[in-house]
Amino acid sequence: MSEQDTTTNAEKLRVVTIDGPSGVGKSTVSRRVASKLGFTYLDTGAMYRAVAYACKQAGINPANPEQQEALLILLKQLDLCLLPSNQKNDNVQVLLQDEDISTAIRSPEMSMAASKVSAVPAVRACLTTMQQEMGKAGGVVAEGRDTGTVVFPDATWKFYLDASPEERCRRRVDQLRNQGQEVDEQETLAQIIERDQNDKERTIAPLVMAQDALLIDSSSLNADEVVARMLEVVLGS
Ligand code: C5P
Repeated sequence: MSEQDTTTNAEKLRVVTIDGPSGVGKSTVSRRVASKLGFTYLDTGAMYRAVAYACKQAGINPANPEQQEALLILLKQLDLCLLPSNQKNDNVQVLLQDEDISTAIRSPEMSMAASKVSAVPAVRACLTTMQQEMGKAGGVVAEGRDTGTVVFPDATWKFYLDASPEERCRRRVDQLRNQGQEVDEQETLAQIIERDQNDKERTIAPLVMAQDALLIDSSSLNADEVVARMLEVVLGS
């Protein structure tokens, strides 16, 4: 029995966590599971993207030790708001100091910047606290890289979604093209592999499957099938 299995149901949070690498379809699936359960969808990746965007706007390189002071001030003053999208299949709406940055944070440049900023300890500490605050009442589907391991270790339902890099690249290319962005497939694959490596190899909260998570390989499943599998587990427990 794993350490987490000894937690009683009463101590567990009514939270669903969905972790996994980039481009595996977590957002689509998380949004749909949240909507079916009447839970709030918490997109933690959007928060890392927003910090990357804020750093860029402020001219701060978060990895530069000489700019740590400026980074801490930025984090302390971070006025970040996530609103559920009113469009069925859209990303959450992200407001930074009342500026709508929902679209700006979705570019490949911001994906890479978010991956870099997410390895900075002060950033993780700040966003993890915010996420725990947002989920403490339960009724949340949290999506990210460390939601089942670090943010909500006591979540009742944990999933780890995986698929091959090639399949994830194909989906990401389709997604970006549907959003009207120009995409180079080889470059996208290289970026996916680099982000996987950054996320898995960083020292704090690396991308790893929680011991008590259920692994779902979505390589040969569509989003509806993944959602159905997750709902079966959540509603059947
Ligand atoms: O999920 P998404 O691609 O929007 O996340 C952007 C980046 O934020 C990821 O590449 C990852 O480095 C980082 N991230 C993280 N921990 C999370 C969510 C996202 O480190 N819980």
